Amino acid sequence: MPDCIFCKIIKGEIPAAKLYEDERCIAILDINPIALGHTLFISRSHYATLADIPEKELGLLTEKLPRVCRAIVKGTGSEGFNIIENNGRCSGQIIPHLHFHIIPRRANDEVRFNWSPRVYQKDEMSRVAQAITDCL
Ligand code: AMP
Ligand code: ZN
Repeated sequence: MPDCIFCKIIKGEIPAAKLYEDERCIAILDINPIALGHTLFISRSHYATLADIPEKELGLLTEKLPRVCRAIVKGTGSEGFNIIENNGRCSGQIIPHLHFHIIPRRANDEVRFNWSPRVYQKDEMSRVAQAITDCL
């Protein structure tokens, strides 16, 4: 995609701190990290979101994800990590090219996610579950 930043990074037209690459993926440091070592694990093929990639291709793409995560944890001396994958503008996706954020974590670090858990009302949970399973 000509105007896609990640396609440009993949083609070498924009510089990036590359950590890993193979025929399916490229892993680079996020330019504005929310923790040091915040990494983007990017599909080499351009798909806008996770919903767009064929299932088998996603399997191949993510094959090396655990290896990259282990290296990030070890290399940054962290204790764990979050994986975040935004899909669509409403979810916070800025670059519509499939990628996973890997965020190294430590106990009591300064990374915060703004979750506000709610409670299902009566019958709401089963209705929602049914509506989704009807679409599978
Ligand atoms: P998302 O909101 O999931 O689309 O995330 C896009 C991420 O790409 C953001 O965290 C940006 O900081 C990051 N980003 C944007 N441009 C670059 C770049 N040239 N190199 C590395 N990371 C980038
Ligand atoms: Zn792209």
